[in-house]
Amino acid sequence: MRVVIVGAGMSGLVAAHELTAAGVDVAVVDKGRSVGGRLATRRIGDARLDHGAQFFTVRTPAFQRRVDDWMERGIVHVWNHGFDAATDAGSGDGHPRYVATAGMNSLAKDLAAGLDGTSCSIETSTMAFTVRPSNAPTDGSSGWDVVIDDASVRSGDAVILTSPLPQSLALLVDSGVEMDSTLMRTEYDRTIGLLVTLDGPSAIPETGGVNDGDDVFSFIGDNRAKGISAAEAVTFHANPEWSEAHWNDDDTLLELLGAEAQRWLGDASIIEAQVKKWRLATPRSIWPDPCWVSAGGRIVMAGDAFAGPKVEGAHNSGLAAAHALLD
Ligand SMILES: Cc1cc2nc3c(=O)[nH]c(=O)nc-3n(C[C@H](O)[C@H](O)[C@H](O)COP(=O)(O)OP(=O)(O)OC[C@H]3O[C@@H](n4cnc5c(N)ncnc54)[C@H](O)[C@@H]3O)c2cc1C
Repeated sequence: MRVVIVGAGMSGLVAAHELTAAGVDVAVVDKGRSVGGRLATRRIGDARLDHGAQFFTVRTPAFQRRVDDWMERGIVHVWNHGFDAATDAGSGDGHPRYVATAGMNSLAKDLAAGLDGTSCSIETSTMAFTVRPSNAPTDGSSGWDVVIDDASVRSGDAVILTSPLPQSLALLVDSGVEMDSTLMRTEYDRTIGLLVTLDGPSAIPETGGVNDGDDVFSFIGDNRAKGISAAEAVTFHANPEWSEAHWNDDDTLLELLGAEAQRWLGDASIIEAQVKKWRLATPRSIWPDPCWVSAGGRIVMAGDAFAGPKVEGAHNSGLAAAHALLD
């Protein structure tokens, strides 16, 4: 069996691992310049900042096994057990918040490195344009073509789509695959992020993270407190309402967000600031199954819209997608 996977984020890479371990040939394509998708980390000078996912929790045995392995190899560490000393009574809520020591993108890089030398190829800067039934199946079986935007084709017996749902559905428009209309109505929240490097410590509480601290920011993360940055660096994520209202304010965004961030900076001044916009940040509704399988069983959709809008959900959806094909 040969499988083409669209997307080298958490779910696509986990699916690739599971399939290659079972002896399947896999071709992964991703439009990004490197792997990771929403597991995104950026360097600004000496600072390292996560600008997509900030941390993750573990609630399922399957993901716990992966995290145990990362812990053993020093790839992840526990940041804390809760951010809000007031609501967590200072002791946390019991759930460890994990972070990747070299930034969240290193999780994807580690998964990709684990596929080196296997029957899996990974192509980045490679954008899938459409998915269609193979024109010329050689052995009488019905295969599928993923057509790339340069008109080249990656063919397989099956395809796993792990892009955010609107993007996966767009790829299937000419496939003839029948879709559930509920899937087509899945909407996503947007997130606008502000990344700043500072000349001194911020006023963010000791835990290093703030959930819904004011009416602008849904999360604020101190990357130095997280243990991923040598220099003072803070990530601010505007909440969905603010992000939606200001999505087109490109000319003033940096200024607007910088002004809102001030109250969290104490005596520190901003050295450098950057804005990052996530149009398809978080699915608003989650499909009841951990992946979706077409009637013919050869097209699978996976990602965080299926097993939960988090790193763990994406991981477990990738596993489910692989097993939907293997089983
Ligand atoms: C701002 C933000 C903050 C977050 N914070 C947290 C957090 O603190 N904790 C947590 O657990 N989760 C968090 N998340 C969610 C978490 O990042 C995601 O659930 C998870 O990373 C999704 O993984 P995925 O593989 O499903 O999708 P993605 O990571 O989006 O991967 C999909 C991949 O598909 C590729 N792709 C799309 N279209 C095409 C195409 N046509 N051709 C080729 N490739 C294509 C993309 O480039 C991308 O790499 C956050 C997300 C955002 C955006």
